[in-house]
Amino acid sequence: MNSCTPTIRNGSRPFSEDFARLAAQESLSRQDLVKILGAKKPEDIEAVRAEAERVLLANCGDGVFLRGLVEASSACACDCLYCGIRKSSRDVNRYTLSLDDILACARQCADYGYGSMVIQSGERADKKFIDLVAEAVTHIKAETRSEQQPDGLGITLCIGQQTYDTYKRLFDAGGHRYLLRIETTNPELFAKIHPSDQTFESRVECLGMLRDIGYQVGTGVMIGLPGQTLDDLAGDILFFGKYDIDMIGMGPFIPHPDTPLGDAPCPDVPERIRLALLMIAATRLKLRDVNIASTTALQALDPVGREKGLKFGANVIMPQMSPTDVRADYQLYPGKPCLDENAKECQSCLNMRIEFAGRKIGLYAWGDSKHAVKRRKRDDQPA
Ligand code: SAH
Repeated sequence: MNSCTPTIRNGSRPFSEDFARLAAQESLSRQDLVKILGAKKPEDIEAVRAEAERVLLANCGDGVFLRGLVEASSACACDCLYCGIRKSSRDVNRYTLSLDDILACARQCADYGYGSMVIQSGERADKKFIDLVAEAVTHIKAETRSEQQPDGLGITLCIGQQTYDTYKRLFDAGGHRYLLRIETTNPELFAKIHPSDQTFESRVECLGMLRDIGYQVGTGVMIGLPGQTLDDLAGDILFFGKYDIDMIGMGPFIPHPDTPLGDAPCPDVPERIRLALLMIAATRLKLRDVNIASTTALQALDPVGREKGLKFGANVIMPQMSPTDVRADYQLYPGKPCLDENAKECQSCLNMRIEFAGRKIGLYAWGDSKHAVKRRKRDDQPA
């Protein structure tokens, strides 16, 4: 068959045998990943997508796990050049949720059957805030136990770079996953989008500490950053593999007008969506058994972006659970969806969206990545 001719599989969409063969390769090299990320024709993209979905279903099953997202504080000590809540942004209303607010969100997650929650915030290492998070984690573990979920909610933390002692304290309190995006693994690009006091190396060091302490470790990148190449993105995927990462959260870069990168040239919206979806697929093809989130940033650029993410190999969604009155004060980028929907409305909308993508909701389950489960078994083997 002429490899340039799209064929039709299962009587559905055009499908390129060339890209299907590439995507199905046992071990993808950096060049292979670049080629996959460069897929432009619909039949090439469809071949990659279909293989990524197949690999997902074979390795992780058809469950989509939910992590209710609580944005605990919009105060931030960092000045990342892309972020809407960076320290220098004067127009942001800086709030911190109370312990009761956070616990109310947790109870709502538990009531809805969301197996886990994520506590995210701007970068704060001050004692008052860390005490609050530690106390919240302890209470959540104790107060969300139920017949359906005897161990209570799973807790993922996403509160930036902290000291070893803080990470350890929060782990001992009951946080068992930590998400710290590396943002980009090209150190030169990293230096261009962060002030000089934030280094690539110290972020990598934090990922090492989190792993040593025993967290399931998540990281991720922004896609479509100014000056970012396909080779950079392929390098990001190899980095996830090298650092034995369990969970990936990545999404398109969305310029925020009040930041220094607000009008930096970056790929147009359809191109960033294409790249973000192909990054999910290529990561699935390379790493196979990790959890990959279909992120809100994808939905911000495309109303059905998160469903598309699921079809390209993602298996985690983070429904918005923050109290409605603070959502607008936590805008990392413009166009954040669900600003005025309450958690109940988010829940029914999500159920519909997941079923629409042909998948099942994994209720009352922590939904640890298969990768983490395998590593735990390996580590538990007697030497
Ligand atoms: N302070 C925490 C949480 C950061 S917010 C930490 O440092 O880990 C979570 C993620 O939002 C960031 O890691 C970044 O990847 C993403 N983000 C921030 N600004 C963005 C933008 N303008 N477009 C897309 N994603 C953005």
